[in-house]
Amino acid sequence: MKNEIKTIAITGGKGGTGKSTIAILLSKEFLRRRKRIILCDCDVECPNDYLLLGQRLKKPKKKVYAHFPKLNKRKCRKCGLCVRTCRSNAIFQAPGKYPIFIKDLCSGCGACWAICPHGAIEAEKEEIGQIFVNRIKKDFYLITGQANPGLEETGPVVTKTKKFALDFAKDRNFDYLIIDTAAGTHCPVISAILDCDLAYCVTEPTPMGAHDLNLILDLCKKLKVKSKIILNQANLGDKKNIEKIAKKYRIEIEKAIPYSEKLAQAYSRGKLLEVNLSL
Ligand code: SF4
Ligand code: SF4
Repeated sequence: MKNEIKTIAITGGKGGTGKSTIAILLSKEFLRRRKRIILCDCDVECPNDYLLLGQRLKKPKKKVYAHFPKLNKRKCRKCGLCVRTCRSNAIFQAPGKYPIFIKDLCSGCGACWAICPHGAIEAEKEEIGQIFVNRIKKDFYLITGQANPGLEETGPVVTKTKKFALDFAKDRNFDYLIIDTAAGTHCPVISAILDCDLAYCVTEPTPMGAHDLNLILDLCKKLKVKSKIILNQANLGDKKNIEKIAKKYRIEIEKAIPYSEKLAQAYSRGKLLEVNLSL
């Protein structure tokens, strides 16, 4: 019988709070409990879990493609319907001229080529990223999504990496999919958290940590994803603000992790799996 896979996002509004460290320590904890784990790095603009695990990204297992609009001027009647349809404001049209597609704003949603009554917009396929698979040890794989440099809209790379990881986990009967998200509350983070069973929001006891924790907890609430707090470097600041926020959202501080020299050294050497500290 196949397992029901649990998906857990490791996220946090603020960068540099130790999300990746926590994602790896959590993987290690589940391994200790004899669970089978996939860690999926969805911080696709600068994935770094592989470095923290002493790995290299070699040949991609899969390439990620998206479609972008291309105008066929012979068919276009300059009616402007595509411009009015695009919700990303990615099409510009001066009076009496052909529409111009602004690729940096385009999400590749396909609405313009679906709506054009004259079939004047073609969908052009383009590579936007890659997915890598590393076997770390028995029952523990790392799947890494990486967006091509300069790509503005990285949400589709996150969505496809996450789907690849979920299918990989289901096919091989894994127990947990742990998703390491980017920092912030923008589109790629939403794509990573969406439909997860639980989100651990990693923060630190600083005013900025508290501010950004509010934002990410609010996002989880809107996405209807259950959330818990992990307070990292818990002994280095004033945690009263974090406790207040936890109370406001009626959620737990699941774990408070003090600063650890040993952990900082293992992080800098890419040997986090070897450190003797579990969650
Ligand atoms: S909807 Fe089609 S015909 Fe009309 S402006 Fe756009 S591309 Fe041209
Ligand atoms: S594919 Fe979507 S986002 Fe891109 S130009 Fe067409 S309607 Fe706009």
